[in-house]
Amino acid sequence: MQLYALGFTNAGENVTAGSVAFLREGAIRMVDVDEKSLKKAENTAVRYLQQINRNDFTASPGRFCSRCDYASICKWKGGKEPDAKVITKTVVVEKEGKPILPSFSDDEVMYACDVFMKELKGRNSHAALKALKHLIRYTDGEEKETARAISEQLSVRADHGLDVPVEIVHAGEVLAESVRSRS
Ligand code: SF4
Repeated sequence: MQLYALGFTNAGENVTAGSVAFLREGAIRMVDVDEKSLKKAENTAVRYLQQINRNDFTASPGRFCSRCDYASICKWKGGKEPDAKVITKTVVVEKEGKPILPSFSDDEVMYACDVFMKELKGRNSHAALKALKHLIRYTDGEEKETARAISEQLSVRADHGLDVPVEIVHAGEVLAESVRSRS
């Protein structure tokens, strides 16, 4: 999406907004198209092109395996827990009496999303609820409200020994996608 926006911008168009539509869920997610976001997307694309030109196709399991089209045939699928060295500690500190919000590494957020989606697709309400309680730490605003709503539904189902219905799986996918897109 951001590369399309970059192309239009370079062609002289004034791109002010971008979005991705999830037709199955009937949901629309806005995509940042500000200068900084487009530059970041361009740098990522350039890095990938350079790797392709070097014939460097080293697998990178763990980050996007849960939604990868090649997962069924990939021997590296399933991912791995991010290296503990790159996980930012969750520490809330105060400066002049005001809390400074903790920061999280991209790997930590991606891993939480992957685990949540794995448990959700496994349809086990207890496991999905546990994973969501971890993921919810990385949400804010509207995302946090959505996460709480899903959590309430999972909690009821877990209490009654019910599986996760497909509607909640879809809602979880939209939530995880939204959280991932900010990392
Ligand atoms: S399943 Fe394989 S190809 Fe897909 S993201 Fe994971 S490692 Fe890469």
